[in-house]
Amino acid sequence: MRASVRWLLLGLCLVLATACATPSQAPPAISTPPADTATTPTPPKEEPKPVKARILAVGDLLMHLPLVNSSQLPGEQWDFKPLFEPVRPWIQGADFAIANLETTLTGRAYPWSGYPSFNTPQEFAGDVKAIGFDAVTHANNHSLDYAEYGLIETSNTLDRYGIPHTGTNRTPEEREKILVVDVAPSIKMALLAYTYGTNGVPLPQPWSVNMLDPERIPADIRRARSLPGVDLVAVALHFGIEYARQPSEEQEMYVKLSLEAGADIILGDHPHVIQRAETRQVTDTFGRDLRRGVIFSLGNFISNQETLYREAGLMLLIDVKKEKGQTTVESVSFVPTWVHPYKVGGAKKFRVVAVEKAMKDYEAKADPLLTAADYERLKDVWADTTVQASGSPDVKVWSVGRPMKL
Ligand SMILES: [Zn+2]
Repeated sequence: MRASVRWLLLGLCLVLATACATPSQAPPAISTPPADTATTPTPPKEEPKPVKARILAVGDLLMHLPLVNSSQLPGEQWDFKPLFEPVRPWIQGADFAIANLETTLTGRAYPWSGYPSFNTPQEFAGDVKAIGFDAVTHANNHSLDYAEYGLIETSNTLDRYGIPHTGTNRTPEEREKILVVDVAPSIKMALLAYTYGTNGVPLPQPWSVNMLDPERIPADIRRARSLPGVDLVAVALHFGIEYARQPSEEQEMYVKLSLEAGADIILGDHPHVIQRAETRQVTDTFGRDLRRGVIFSLGNFISNQETLYREAGLMLLIDVKKEKGQTTVESVSFVPTWVHPYKVGGAKKFRVVAVEKAMKDYEAKADPLLTAADYERLKDVWADTTVQASGSPDVKVWSVGRPMKL
């Protein structure tokens, strides 16, 4: 929230500066009216200063068992933070950071597990928060890996660690409640999430998981946009075809429908590979003719999946501006990432690195964990992601050398 606080302070300073400038316009002391009718000279009316904020989104936290095992400390304890340590500065540098929790936090009643039924130690929630994520979406095909018990345990755990979440519901009331978060002191965002399915596990209750529904989604978006104080509506859609590099017709349909209903930001995932990010000018049902930010698939942020495209991910940066009561997506950019497998004392480890930074570190011999083979892989990931993710000419790579603060 640092950047937004800075903007707030800047605004306050400017207001104070204006107030300080007014004495020259004050009436001379000799004409001071009697105290009972005293009026303070009104400073010229000023528009509130624009507020800017940067939202960061990453794709799947697909917690395969090797990632869990590599994060175990002596005894039944875990530290997952090293998985994300190299990218922490970008995550924490954003005003608000979102990830897709593609696992469950079902607890010790079941063994720790990766594919096909994910169960990650509940400490993961604390480390996701510590690394800088402010909210997670949890409507995906693994939401019901441990049926209703796992769904409830996961939500209870996220609550216990203080991470806002959306997409799964413990009660019918929770299904109706829309998550609204502060991305900056004066910018509120509604965050919705939906999935195409739950890997064939029947819904325990009709309201347990938010499913893709061409009627329900626009209705929810319209309701979210009408909530008092909501400036932005972001929609996470878990959809598409696994490993497909181009969006399907169904993805296109849901993106169009969501934008026209009033969504400002679409965060797609599920294919486990990156699909294009773009901006679109859309007029919605509220008559707002605005630029929107879309990514069809964020790819894997962390996983044990191999092959070039599945090891590649990105941090999507969506810059928004609130001015004269209207909040708009100003620009969309991205930082390519890669899951780097390495060994410490014979034990396999993993970490997410920012591709550009890792390449520079290797060239400067500043990162002893990177090998010549890693460097070749980084170059391949860079060459692909920088093209693959740029779905419209204005969507650019955000160089890691540039400061994250707006
Ligand atoms: Zn999925």
